[in-house]
Amino acid sequence: MKNTQVIIIGGGLAGLTAAIHLSLKDINVILIEKEKYPHHKVCGEYLSKEVIPYLKFLGLDLDSLEPARIKRLKYSSQNGETIFCDLEMGGLGISRYALDNYLFRNSISPNCQIIYDTVSAVHFEKDGFQVKLSGGKKLNSDFVLGAYGKRSNLDKELKRPFFEHLSGWLAVKAHYKNDQYPDDTVSLHNFNGGYCGLSKTETGDVNACYLASYKSFRRFKNIETFKEKVLMRNPELKEFFLHSTPVFDKELSIAQVSFDKKDIIEDHMLMLGDAAGLIHPLCGNGMAMAIHSAKLAAEGITEFYENKQIGRASVEAGYRNKWNREFKSRIRAGRILQKILLNRSLSEITQGMIKNFPFVVPHIIKRTHGKPIYV
Ligand SMILES: Cc1cc2nc3c(=O)[nH]c(=O)nc-3n(C[C@H](O)[C@H](O)[C@H](O)COP(=O)(O)OP(=O)(O)OC[C@H]3O[C@@H](n4cnc5c(N)ncnc54)[C@H](O)[C@@H]3O)c2cc1C
Repeated sequence: MKNTQVIIIGGGLAGLTAAIHLSLKDINVILIEKEKYPHHKVCGEYLSKEVIPYLKFLGLDLDSLEPARIKRLKYSSQNGETIFCDLEMGGLGISRYALDNYLFRNSISPNCQIIYDTVSAVHFEKDGFQVKLSGGKKLNSDFVLGAYGKRSNLDKELKRPFFEHLSGWLAVKAHYKNDQYPDDTVSLHNFNGGYCGLSKTETGDVNACYLASYKSFRRFKNIETFKEKVLMRNPELKEFFLHSTPVFDKELSIAQVSFDKKDIIEDHMLMLGDAAGLIHPLCGNGMAMAIHSAKLAAEGITEFYENKQIGRASVEAGYRNKWNREFKSRIRAGRILQKILLNRSLSEITQGMIKNFPFVVPHIIKRTHGKPIYV
C-alpha cells in the first residue's frame, strides 16, 4: 500500500461515495467508520434521482437493490387536508440499511482500507494531517475529508459554534407493514410542531420518519404518547398508524438535530454531507447533497494529484466555491419552506394558494433540489 493520500472520517453516504470515487482514480484512501455495517439510520429514505447518473459513473446500480419508484408527493396539513403533485424527477425509496451497506461493499478495493474506530482528533501541521483514533492509533495523510454526519464528538473537538447551541429538534424513525400504502408516493404530513414523511423502501415496508420540536415533544416525553396525542391528530397519520404493524422492536431516535450554519472547511479539512450543512429534511435532498458533495471534493483532490501545479489552497477554494454554488440556495429555500410549514396559519394560506395555483409546486421543489449530476 502507498502512503495514505486521503483519510475519510465517517462512512455514511458522503464518506463512502468519496472513497469509491477516489479509489477509482487510483488515489489511496483510508475510511474510518465507528459503526459496523449494515445498520439502520434515522432518515426519510427518499433519495432524489438527481444522483443516478453520477452513481452510474461510479459503477453503482441502485436498481439491483429494487428500490420503490416514487413519482408522486402527497402533502397534508394538520387537519388532514391533502394536496397531490407529480414529481418531475422523482426518487427512490431505499432504506439506509441497504443503501449504506451497498456503498460499503462497493468501496472495498485495493485502494481503500476501512477501519472500524472512532476518530477522536485531527491535527493539521506542516502541510499534512495527523488523525487520532480512540483505539490509540495515529494515522497521517495529505488530505482529510470530514464526512461524519450532522453531529459528532469531533464537532466539539473542533469547537464548531453550532455544537455550543442547544438545537430545538429531535427526529424519530421506524419501519411499518402497511399493504394499503402506495409504492409510488412519498407523503409529508404536518402535525403541531413538526412533520412526518412516509414512503416505501426496497423491502416493501413503509418508512415513517418525523422531525419534531422539543417544545411540542417535551410535554409528552415519550414517543408512544407523542405519536398518539400529537401525530395522530392529523387524520392522515391516524389512518396510517392505525392500519400499520411496526417492524422494529422500537423506534430509532436522535436528538440535537441542528440546522445552524457550519463552515465548509475546518482547519484544512474539507467537510462533506451533513458535516458541511444540513438541509431541512422536508426537502428530501440531504442524501443527494451528501453524495454530490463527495463528488465535488473527490474531483478537486483528483485534480491535485493529476496536476501538481494546483496547491492545497486552490483545492480548498475550488471546493468552497462549488459547494456554495450548488447547495447554499437550496439550504436557504429549505429553511423558508420549513418556517412556512410549521406556522399553522401560514401553511394553511400557502395550501389554499397551491390549491388555486398547483403549477407553483414543481417550482418550489426545484428550488430545493439539484439537476441530474453528470460527470
Ligand atoms: C429526520 C430526517 C429525515 C431525513 N430524510 C431524508 C430524506 O428522506 N431524503 C434525503 O435525501 N435526506 C434526508 N435526510 C438527510 C439525510 O439523512 C442526510 O443528509 C444524510 O444522511 C447525510 O449523509 P452523511 O454521509 O453526511 O452523514 P451520515 O449518513 O450521518 O454518516 C456519517 C457517518 O459518520 C460516522 N461517524 C460519526 N462520527 C465519527 C467519528 N468520530 N469517527 C468515525 N466515524 C464517525 C457515523 O457513524 C456515520 O456512519 C433526513 C434527515 C433527518 C434528520
